[in-house]
Order: sequence, then C-alpha cells, then structure tokens
Amino acid sequence: MTSERLEGVTSDQISQALFERAGAVIPGGVNSPVRAFGAVGGTPRFIASARGPYLTDADGNEYVDLICSWGPMILGHAHPAVVEAVQRAAALGTSYGTPTEGEVTLAEEIVARTPVEQVRLVSSGTEATMSAIRLARGFTGRPKIVKFSGCYHGHSDGLLAAAGSGVATFGLPDSPGVTGAATADTLVLGYNDLAAVEEVFAEQGDQIACVITEACPANMGIVPPLDDFNLRLKAICAQYGALLIMDEVLTGFRVSRSGWYGIDGVAGDLCTFGKVMGGGLPAAAFGGRAEIMSRLAPAGPVYQAGTLSGNPLATAAGLATLRGATDEVYARIDGAAATVAELASDALTKEGVEHRLQVAGNLFSIFFAPGKVRDFDGAQQQDTRRYAAFFHAALDRGVYLPPSAYEAWFLSAAHDDAALGRIAEALPHAARAAAEAE
Ligand SMILES: *Cc1c(COP(=O)(O)O)cnc(C)c1O
Repeated sequence: MTSERLEGVTSDQISQALFERAGAVIPGGVNSPVRAFGAVGGTPRFIASARGPYLTDADGNEYVDLICSWGPMILGHAHPAVVEAVQRAAALGTSYGTPTEGEVTLAEEIVARTPVEQVRLVSSGTEATMSAIRLARGFTGRPKIVKFSGCYHGHSDGLLAAAGSGVATFGLPDSPGVTGAATADTLVLGYNDLAAVEEVFAEQGDQIACVITEACPANMGIVPPLDDFNLRLKAICAQYGALLIMDEVLTGFRVSRSGWYGIDGVAGDLCTFGKVMGGGLPAAAFGGRAEIMSRLAPAGPVYQAGTLSGNPLATAAGLATLRGATDEVYARIDGAAATVAELASDALTKEGVEHRLQVAGNLFSIFFAPGKVRDFDGAQQQDTRRYAAFFHAALDRGVYLPPSAYEAWFLSAAHDDAALGRIAEALPHAARAAAEAE
C-alpha cells in the first residue's frame, strides 16, 4: 500500500474497455445496477484489488474507498485475519452440503450480539427478508405485509412494491416482471408516518402478518426513525398479533456490535442480517424468537432451504470479521465517520452549497436539499445533479464515494489518518464542483 499522495486519476482507458466487453455479455455491463454509474454518469471503475481503505482499479489508479462493498468491509479490505480464515477453509474443501461446526459458531456469535434466539443462515439479504416474510405469514396465517416507501429489502417480488393512491390501498408493482398479484398483499406506507400505520391496522389489522422496516433506513440516504417510531411499530404489531421484522441487513454489526438494536434497543420479532456478517462473502441470516423460528422446516412446516446456505468459506469470513469487530473497532469507525461527515459538510458550507447531513451512528449521507429529510418524498427533493458533480470531482482526486445520492457513506477500521488526509484534500474540490453544477 502506498501512502504518498495520489496525483489524481490519470486514465480510465482499461475500465472503459472492460465496460465495453462487459456490455456485450452482461446486461448493462454490471451485475447489480448501482455499479453502472447510471445516477452520476461516466464509466464505472473496474476494481482489480483492494487493501485496507484503498481500492485499485484496472488502470492502476488508487482510491480511498467510502463504499466498503456497501458495508461488509468493516475491518478494511483484505484484512489478514479474514484472508487467513478463508484460505484455511478453502484448503479443507469449499462446500459439503452437510452441517458444519462453522455454521454453529457463527449462529452462536449472532445470537450473542442480537435479540434473536435462533437464526437460519442464507446467502443474501434478499433471501433473508423473503424467507422472514414467508415465516411471518406461516406463523400468523395471515396474507398481508406492510412496508415503507424508500426502505429497501432486496429484490424479491412482493417487496418491489410502490405506494398506491391512499394509505389503505394495495401496493403497485415497482418493476416490469412483478405482477399485480405479487404485490397485492403488500401495503406501502410513508416512512415515519405512524398515523398511516395506525389507520391501516385499524382497517385491516386481522389480515396483516407483519410490518417490515429497515431498523434505520439507509437505502434512500440516511433517514433515521423519528423519536419512538420503532417502539410504536412494535406496540402496534403486538396489539394486532402481527410480527415486526427489523431489517438489519445493512445496519447489523455495522452501526454497533449489535447493529441498530444496540442503539435504540427495539427488538424485532424477526430480524434479518447480511453484509457485515459475511465479511465480503455471500452470507446472510434471519432470526427471531425460538417459538417463531421453530416453525421452519425441518423443525416445522414452513419450507426454506439453500444448497450453499452456511457455506464454509462464507461462515469463516463472517466469523473472522465479527470476531475482529470489537468495541475498539466500532469506536475507531465512529470517530472516522464523524471526521469525514464534518469535512464534507464544512466544505459544502464554505462553497455555499445547500445540503443536509443526516447521521445514524457511523453511517451518514448528505442530501443536496435544504431541510431535514424524514421520508422518501423528502429524499427525492434533492438536487442529484449537484451530487453527480460532487461525486466525479472526488473520484478524479482519488476518493470513491457512493455513485448515487441515495446511498450512505461507509467507513472502516482501516481508514487511518493517511486515508482521512486524502479525503480532506479532495472534498474542497468536490464541493466547488457541486457549487458550479447547474
Ligand atoms: C443490501 C440490503 C438488502 C439486500 O441484501 P442483498 O444481499 O443485496 O440481497 C436487504 N435489506 C437491506 C436493508 C439492505 O441494505
């Protein structure tokens, strides 16, 4: 890893050539849409390697990484303990299709840190939320679910729903290919709107299996729950016999050792996890009280399965990551995140750019909008063209921000003074570009 100053990004020719090759054989050239830079324009960088807080692209440019694989790389890239755990596991065989000790140890670690009593391991956050909803429906015997607009829970059909007109109407498909039938039992409400939740339960409470919410929304930018929102959701669910699913795929083991639960203390009846718990390999989980989880096959009748669930490499990477994620690590990340948030906000203020910093533990995002953002409608008021200019000016100076104004910024324990220094040098240029953008 070099620590001398980066001279700026000199060329993206190889990335351009790779993006062209990719476009011929992969739709849009990427395997997950946000990677394509659609929201900010330009050529996505093809990353060849990463270490600590740095990414190196195919053209040899180095960037301070403020995405951290969208959360998982909490210890930094290629952390020696994680690399060693994966290498050791790989040498023992990559998959058996049988139970292994590593799955038990990882499940014990998750149970020790969170309110859940039992967990089922899966391979992606999408699978975790999809399975948790099936279990909630199987447990309650009810069809409907409540979700909030702007909360992302992966790409399963029933969760790709947009709000219909009026609070008590069914959800509408949010993507071609999702049928009206798949979203008809999904009720979509505005985030932080307790009156709407109360209204929908008063009308249809005996039909509602669960409410699913991001424990602290981070997929429309950071929009924390107001005051006692989560607590009230839990009380309303309890009153009507519905389950509360706390989606902690992003916040789990990131904003604290116990995720957002470690900050606001509201336990979901079911919780979903992913990202950090896989340490950069595909691992995710859903869990809850034993009384609910025991309804899952083979203990109970609700079917759920996976060929690679609890994969030995993924459990080894996840366990090494969680074991490395000590109180000291969280304190470091909290400090680094506060520093970067302040640097960014100060730089924008200095250039007179209207913006709003929103923080959730060590996660934050910047809305190019004037006031406090409390729901998805508010998030959509921002000036995304300013963000695109801000993003590209930072990228040109070797700082890799999320390529969308609707994403959180992620720090790791590896973001040391050298990395923070590079960010401090780049941000004033980015702020100027934002100010000059029309
Ligand atoms: C990332 C994310 C998911 C989906 O996880 P994948 O592993 O991408 O399928 C679900 N919920 C939340 C809150 C997320 O941030």
